[in-house]
Amino acid sequence: MFSYRHAFHAGSHADILKHLTLIHLVEYLQEKPGALTIVDTHAGAGIYSLKDGFATVSKEADGGIFRLKQFTQDYIQSGNPLHAGIQAYMDCVDAENTGDELNLYPGSPFILARLLRPQDRLKLFELHPKEIDILRHNVSQLKQAKQIDVYAEDSFARLKGLLPPPSRRGLVLIDPSYEDKQDYRYLETAMEEALQRFATGCYAIWYPIISRRESAALPDRMKKIATAHHRSWLHTELRVENAPGERRLQASGMFIINPPWTLEKHLAQALPILVKALGQDGGAQFLLKSFEA
Ligand code: SAM
Repeated sequence: MFSYRHAFHAGSHADILKHLTLIHLVEYLQEKPGALTIVDTHAGAGIYSLKDGFATVSKEADGGIFRLKQFTQDYIQSGNPLHAGIQAYMDCVDAENTGDELNLYPGSPFILARLLRPQDRLKLFELHPKEIDILRHNVSQLKQAKQIDVYAEDSFARLKGLLPPPSRRGLVLIDPSYEDKQDYRYLETAMEEALQRFATGCYAIWYPIISRRESAALPDRMKKIATAHHRSWLHTELRVENAPGERRLQASGMFIINPPWTLEKHLAQALPILVKALGQDGGAQFLLKSFEA
């Protein structure tokens, strides 16, 4: 159950899609001054070394953040203005590093923490016995630490208890490892319960695109749940390669319930750039679909 460590995958193409989308959601929701509660149901360790430990074994960041960093530097040097969303994402990553070198990659807890305004709150869940200790330590170093609660609990069971947030303005990132096949089923139950309690919340679900029946069915299952609750949705995928076999993750997706109206245009501009920057072969492509309730 606890073999998954996000440090192996930190800074991968999947993290880029997830974190770039997440930043736009937060920035949009912060256009109004009311307090925002953000729940990160599967937090991981918070921040990761790219220069030693697990990341150097998997080297997933080579095809992800290192590649994007080089691409954006070349892009800017050739006189092109970088897409604002990609720039905002790079700014979040650069904020954890000094100079031009990338030594650290911020996970969702650090990206979200740095974006908090004084009125906002962040709630982090992590079950892994080692990751929770690292997460607690990392969060304690942040100047936003007082605005953050860390729970060593099963978020699928606990999410509904946090909804609706007191301010009725909320964003929930659901980013399971899907290490346990049951996660797909737990996700559906958690989403049903969450929408019953807080139908107007913004929910961002990440999933891997792998040859597993549950993974292929996930977008349709989420569409069904969103539609049953009369909610708008947006579905996006980023594929960086289409090679035979599954030596490494080649594609991932995000399903957003109650997306801001700005998100589709934002991704429509950013995704072709990501395909160009991160694409490994001719099979690199993106998908973007939405439905307005
Ligand atoms: N969201 C992080 C990021 O973007 O940086 C990455 C999270 S990683 C994909 C998933 C994490 O969820 C793992 O660290 C795992 O230990 C944790 N986890 C697995 N099941 C959980 C559960 N039911 N409740 C809370 N955390 C869980």
